[in-house]
Amino acid sequence: MKKLLEVNDLSVSFDTYGGEVQAVRGVSFELNEKETLAIVGESGSGKSVTAQSLMQLIPMPPGKFVGGSIMFEGEDLTGKSEKQMQRIRGKEISMIFQDPMTSLNPTMTIGNQIGEGLIKHQNLSKKEAHNRAIELLELVGIPNPEARVKQYPHQFSGGMRQRAMIAIALACNPKVLIADEPTTALDVTIQAQIMDLMRDLQDKTNTAIILITHDLGVVANAASRVVVMYGGKIVETGKVDEIFYNPKHPYTWGLLGSMPKIENKDEELQSIPGSPPDLSDPPKGCPFVSRCPYAMEVCKNHMPEYTDVSNTQKTACWLTDERAPKVEIPKSAVV
Ligand code: SF4
Ligand code: MG
Repeated sequence: MKKLLEVNDLSVSFDTYGGEVQAVRGVSFELNEKETLAIVGESGSGKSVTAQSLMQLIPMPPGKFVGGSIMFEGEDLTGKSEKQMQRIRGKEISMIFQDPMTSLNPTMTIGNQIGEGLIKHQNLSKKEAHNRAIELLELVGIPNPEARVKQYPHQFSGGMRQRAMIAIALACNPKVLIADEPTTALDVTIQAQIMDLMRDLQDKTNTAIILITHDLGVVANAASRVVVMYGGKIVETGKVDEIFYNPKHPYTWGLLGSMPKIENKDEELQSIPGSPPDLSDPPKGCPFVSRCPYAMEVCKNHMPEYTDVSNTQKTACWLTDERAPKVEIPKSAVV
């Protein structure tokens, strides 16, 4: 598998009145060709900031790169100028967002919005771009594309707008598609359709996908690998089966426990009590310490190193230390 994107020790902060918020703290991961990598975590975990950093979409200031690199096909994106990034965005790496209404332009037809990138990056004529827009609408499953291409976003339903966003994002055959909570604003049936569509399109286009979500349930059928983020750090990473069937980190257990399970629909969902750490004054040790039922003295002041669970799974938790008490995976986290 060819490595497409390699993030090394990335740290991103924001200057605020309350001090420097360390939103992303030393994050490293890679994305291979044609794979779907999910980045999972609650809001404030740093997952969206990580995604936006890949596109250099963090407003600076107040945001700033504190360190690390983002290697894309051998070049570090953190050093690129806005002009250089404009050649990469949309063409090499593109992004779809949670709420298509705020990212679509309400005053432009859907067809022109799809065509924009094609005219800019691929030198298509207006006519060619229009025809390609129709093809793309058809590809993302919008019926009657010849008529739809001339319509405005408000004439589309929520699910169709998300499909249109995907068409825009895929117009220039990007190598990487970043989808930030692509289905959160949609109802459950449409969510499933959009996830199916993305999988389907990936088979056809071979685009690698980074799927950002707070919902592990979305990940099960969609991703091949998972990165779990908490408090600006990666706490566990592994293949999707490893994360679901052999999770090692108490935060991953909490996420699995808060996932709805089909067989016990009536049971109350276990949400993880407490709230995420204040990243303007992040904990010295494990970021999960204030909410972890297994927290030990050592966790307070010492960040656990990553331990290899397998060749493909690693976790950052003191429970993997041989001196730690043996803890079983809680029943709630067994899927
Ligand atoms: Fe809990 Fe300690 Fe593991 Fe952090 S390092 S998840 S506080 S047991
Ligand atoms: Mg977000």
